[in-house]
Amino acid sequence: METKRLVEKDPVLKKDDLIVITGGGGFIAGNLALYFKKKGFTNLRTVDKKPLYEWYLQVPGVESLCLDLSEEANCQRVCEGAVEVYNLAADMGGMGFIERFRIECLRSILINTHMVEAAYKAGARRYFYSSSACAYNTDLQQDPNVRALKETDAYPAMAERGYGWEKLVSEMFCQEYWHERGMKTAIARFHNVYGPFGTWDGGREKAPAALCRKVIQALDTGKNDITIWGDGHQTRSFMYIDDCVKGIDMIMHSDALIATPINLGSSELVSINDLLSKVEKIAGTKLKRNYDLNAPRGVAGRTSDNTFIQKMLGWEPNTTLDKGLAATYKWIKVQYDNRKQGKRVVE
Ligand code: NAD
Repeated sequence: METKRLVEKDPVLKKDDLIVITGGGGFIAGNLALYFKKKGFTNLRTVDKKPLYEWYLQVPGVESLCLDLSEEANCQRVCEGAVEVYNLAADMGGMGFIERFRIECLRSILINTHMVEAAYKAGARRYFYSSSACAYNTDLQQDPNVRALKETDAYPAMAERGYGWEKLVSEMFCQEYWHERGMKTAIARFHNVYGPFGTWDGGREKAPAALCRKVIQALDTGKNDITIWGDGHQTRSFMYIDDCVKGIDMIMHSDALIATPINLGSSELVSINDLLSKVEKIAGTKLKRNYDLNAPRGVAGRTSDNTFIQKMLGWEPNTTLDKGLAATYKWIKVQYDNRKQGKRVVE
């Protein structure tokens, strides 16, 4: 039988305590480093296996290391002296990527396995793990008129092949590092995240960025049609990046949520057809729609049940799609134009 651990109060987190963020060259971790920098933290270390020139965001004054975290020795090196560790490194992408590269997705298990152990050995006070809605039982997601997914829906387990199973097992590691060894861990199940400084071309991008780019391209080339993956009736919710980083901070520092997976996502459900209509409205256009029924489409419907996060934090992601999409479209348009002019951009 499991004995419940007593939660000892943390000392106050000092502005110069070392915060380590992995996946720093990627979308969410880059934005998280910026968020902590703006909050006044002065000792931030970000890590990614990508070369620096491929990072979406390099925050001035933040240590940026290029290391492969599937190697144990590298994880030990980056966790040295860490007070808090945020693990956001993973080989991942949108539906097109995770359905095609299941082995790459599964291999991310090495990153979390070594990182959580290295953080523990380094005496880190808290450890954050970025899980995903893909950890949920896929049998519950076969209908576009979804029942929103609540935290208990992960078990009995039937996660997304590859990517989802990796998340579920890594969650379990984090839970056991608290129960067996007493390291405070936090686990957020992100639902689709979007916003500036994210992937927008190249095959790993998700629906909001992909649709923004396709609309921009259609307008630019005068080719007034667009191809949508699937029949467009599949539904999703999308969380704006600012809500994501705020939620990470709140979840990481909640004693009531230690080792407890929690949804971090928007509950504003939208079909892919309606998402495109929103992007068209921002761009001031209307395109002819073609449907590629052979393209990857993922589950039929998925959204976040936010009852638990509301109860625990009195908050949920609340940036409207209209507001977040407008900012994202604007950012991608700048990247697109820069690329066209031969300037170097990160996709
Ligand atoms: P991202 O691809 O932009 O960033 C992930 C980063 O991890 C990349 O820059 C990649 O180079 C790095 N990485 C991969 N393997 C590595 C390794 N072996 N060593 C060091 N770095 C490595 O993805 P993101 O959208 O910022 O996602 C961050 C986390 O959130 C991931 O764990 C992801 O699974 C999770 N998540 C994201 C979403 C979303 O919608 N973006 C949804 C659910 C879960």
